[in-house]
Amino acid sequence: MSVVWSPETRAHDPRHEVWVGVPTPAVEVAERVDAILDAVGDRERVLATPHGAEALASVHDPALLDFLATAHGHWLAGGYVEEVGQERVVPYVFPTDAMTAGMPTRLPTALHGLAGQFGYDTMTLIGPGTWSAAVAAADCALTATDLVLAGSTSAYALSRPPGHHATPGGYGGSCYLNNAALAAQALVDGGRERVAVLDLDAHHGNGTQAIFWERGDVLYGSLHVDPAAGWFPHWVGHADETGAGPGLGATRNLPLPEGTGDRAWLERVDDLADWVTAAGCDALVVSLGVDAAADDPESPLQVTADGYAAAGRRVGGLGLASVVVQEGGYHLPSLGGLVAAYLDGHESS
Ligand SMILES: [Zn+2]
Repeated sequence: MSVVWSPETRAHDPRHEVWVGVPTPAVEVAERVDAILDAVGDRERVLATPHGAEALASVHDPALLDFLATAHGHWLAGGYVEEVGQERVVPYVFPTDAMTAGMPTRLPTALHGLAGQFGYDTMTLIGPGTWSAAVAAADCALTATDLVLAGSTSAYALSRPPGHHATPGGYGGSCYLNNAALAAQALVDGGRERVAVLDLDAHHGNGTQAIFWERGDVLYGSLHVDPAAGWFPHWVGHADETGAGPGLGATRNLPLPEGTGDRAWLERVDDLADWVTAAGCDALVVSLGVDAAADDPESPLQVTADGYAAAGRRVGGLGLASVVVQEGGYHLPSLGGLVAAYLDGHESS
């Protein structure tokens, strides 16, 4: 399986997240790229190629793309560094129903207000290299998709920053552009009739679910730590969310209790694999988060490298053309080995 990557994905340096009001050290760091590259062995490496703004607009609102592309430059010009000592774009107010109360609203003129229109949390900061890295991550996914559309059985996109929390019009959860959704849309545009996105990340991919919520041609299936147990993205990712309109039944969520280990996790992987088979899909996108691993600091799941290898064998065994897109995974000493374990399993089947 080819590994598609880009050195530009290292350009995003979030430094901190702001979590419950406190700056905490960033975990979605550039070192993730090299930890994975070091572990994928002698697989062919392919540099991502630019796909342009039009491709990004296939799943995202132009207003979000404009904001992400220009926000940091405007932040610097706006004096935020000198006046408040903040070098990264971070929102502080959000236009939820609690604030707007059904009243007519208009977009804020102040950038620190406008940021809350597009950013939905305070953990996902925009720095000088964020946009170019996010675009490079998207290009990794789109280039991997090109390989699959050209006949490769599978390709792996070393996308970073991750993407599955990015919605049509918003960024959050350390995600800016939805790499997996871009891959799925590109597979549809390339002639695939029914594409499944199978999300193995420890967290629910609320962005991917939102993008395809009313679509019958792209399925979204996810297993993740139960948001009702107190985990991000809190508001969505529950089992009774199954899509709407033409997409009714094309979303499937399998929330898991804290502490879930290989056996129960793999049973749910089997459930999703069977669901994809029954739906007659002709292509697959895997959102490969490895933060369900026992060592990972960002989730309470307890999956092992052997578990990820077994998931790879099960998903690869579906025999579908597959674009595997990197999502989460934050324990640097084990990150690369977990990814390699999945890829080994996927390739072996
Ligand atoms: Zn995650």
